[in-house]
This record gives sequence, C-alpha cells and structure tokens, in this order.
Amino acid sequence: MSEDIQEFAQIARFHGINTPFEISEVPVTTTKDTVLIRVGLATICGSDLHTVSGRRGAEVPCGLGHEIVGTVAAPTHLCSAEGKPLHEGDRITWSLTASCGACHYCVNRKLPQKCETLFKYGHARSEGIGTLSGGFATHILLRPGTAIYHIPDAIKDEEAVPINCALATVLNGLETIGTHPGETAVIHGAGTLGIYAACYLREQGYDIVAVVDLNAARLEIAKRFGATHTFNPDTTSMAAIDATLKKLTGGRGIELAVEVSGATSALPSLIESLAIGGRCLTLGYVYPHANVSLNAHQLVTKCVTLRGVHNYHPTVLRAALRFIENNRTRYPFASLIGETYPLADIDTAFAHALRQDALRVAINPTWHSV
Ligand SMILES: [Zn+2]
Ligand SMILES: [Zn+2]
Repeated sequence: MSEDIQEFAQIARFHGINTPFEISEVPVTTTKDTVLIRVGLATICGSDLHTVSGRRGAEVPCGLGHEIVGTVAAPTHLCSAEGKPLHEGDRITWSLTASCGACHYCVNRKLPQKCETLFKYGHARSEGIGTLSGGFATHILLRPGTAIYHIPDAIKDEEAVPINCALATVLNGLETIGTHPGETAVIHGAGTLGIYAACYLREQGYDIVAVVDLNAARLEIAKRFGATHTFNPDTTSMAAIDATLKKLTGGRGIELAVEVSGATSALPSLIESLAIGGRCLTLGYVYPHANVSLNAHQLVTKCVTLRGVHNYHPTVLRAALRFIENNRTRYPFASLIGETYPLADIDTAFAHALRQDALRVAINPTWHSV
C-alpha cells in the first residue's frame, strides 16, 4: 500500500470539558483505500454539545464534527455509493459511519450503523489513522465502508450540511415506524430534527403536525416548516396541551408521536397523547442515563408501538438528499444554519451553540479570522 504525503491540514481537537480546543497543523497522509476530502462547511450538532458539556463520553483528543459537506481533494479510484466515479472537486456528503458489510449487525440485522467494527466520524480519537476523522478541520479522510453521495448542483452547502446526521436520522426513524397520509402527529422538540420531522410529515400527507418546545423562537421556525399547531409548555400546561390534542383528533388522541428533544419528560407525555394503536418514535436520548418513568399501563392498554432508532442505514442518506432537492423551494432549509465561524474561532462557535439561540452554528474551515 503506497502512502503519499500530499499537504498539511488544520484540525481542531477536543481535549475535555472546560478546555479550549487545540488547533494544530498535521501532515495529510492518504492511501489507496481512503478518500481525502476538503471540508467546505461543518455544523455543530446536539451530540457535539453533549460531548463538550460532558453528558456524553469521548476518547480524547477527539476530532469532533460529523455534519459536513466537502469536496474530493485528491484523485481516488473509489466510487460513490451509487457506483459513480469520484473526481477531484466533486461535492459530496457521506454516512456518519463506516461499517464492514459482513458482520452480524451489517448482514442479519440490517443495522450497519451498529457494525461490530463500526467507525463513527466526529467521535473518534484524533490520533494515528483517526487524526483526520472530524469535520472541524480543513480535511477529513474517508475510509472503506463509508457510503458517499454526490450532492446535486441545485443544493447549496448550507442546505446539505446537517442532512448526514439530523435529516437522515429523522428519515430513518420515520421510515422505520411508518408514516400514513391523513394521520396526525405530535413532535416533542423543535431543534433541527424536529424541524425536519415537521416538514417531512407534512410532505407525507399529515393533516395535523403539532410541535411542542420550550423555545418560542424555535416554534416560530417550526411553523415555517409545516407545523400546523405549536405549543410551549412554559405558557401552556402539559394537561392543557394534551386536552387540545385530544380535541383536535375527535377525542381519540394522536396517531404518531415523535420524541426528538432528549428531555426525559417528553416520552411520558407523548405516551399520554397517543391514540389507541398509536406509534411512538424516540430518537433523542443519545446520552447515557436517560432514565424515563412512563405509564406502562397506557402503553399496554392502548396497544402502543414504542420504537427507538439510532443513526441510520447509509442508503437513507440518498433519500435525504432527494427530500432536500424536491422541497428546497417550499422550505427555507438554508435558514437553519445560523452564524458561521472560521476554524480558529471554534471555541466562540461552541459557546454560541451552547446558548441554544441558533439551530445550527457552522464552521467554515476555509475562512480565516480577521
Ligand atoms: Zn449529529
Ligand atoms: Zn459490520
């Protein structure tokens, strides 16, 4: 296997909570099995925030950042997941995970995101072969088992960047639990996942898509993304919200409940809101010790389906791209990206993201501080 040092990359490494990111220059080493990518834009996801705030463990130094778009930066013989050649300069997105395609979870369970030798971009120790594995860097190295897709020309970087985590996860969850035109839905959480879920469900023919969140500004965004009703538990009690949902559904309750807030209070109230035969999808508890107490009597007697889904099957990323391409004139996807910072200002970018006043804060590693 020939190795060829091509250039240097700038990377930001996370060393632990309350510690500034370390920005350093490292040599770029590619092999014939890897694809070198120049990062165009990366966004700070909720799970990055879980890591920097210590809610979720990380092997340090960690190369954070997994919502990324970039361009192919060096010649490669590797192809996209659709079998198309990858040329230098091609704009691409890729699966969060690289999987082996041969183990029990990849083959028998159709859960390659749970592969026995799984590699996850933006969550790995940034050393050795994992040095260029996070999106908060000028370059990232994609390894075998990564599903790579070309981004259609019509889609802007700002519209594409969160889809390889947030949108693909939502689509995978909703496709897994099933959607049916004419149904009613309630979504707990108006973060990026909740916003994507709202517009996807509207496009799937849902008549009622109610969104619940404590953040009034996010509820306004949800309305622009298809929410038919919004509720703020700060100003309306959960009992009153539930009563309204029952009234809206002729007393039956909601058919599809979606938890994307990560709040432990969400799941019990969603079970409460569900109709007989209702389905509940939970995606938000991606941090350890998310212990929830819920009314299992209701779960049983209402014949509720409760389904947890984590990450996604890589093929869902193609559906996510298609969804953005088909609906980008109907929904202002680019507006989900808030302020953008150069890599040198990554600490400021994270401080901004932790304030929760923007759905996504971005880092553009091609920009330089002034
Ligand atoms: Zn993410
Ligand atoms: Zn596997």
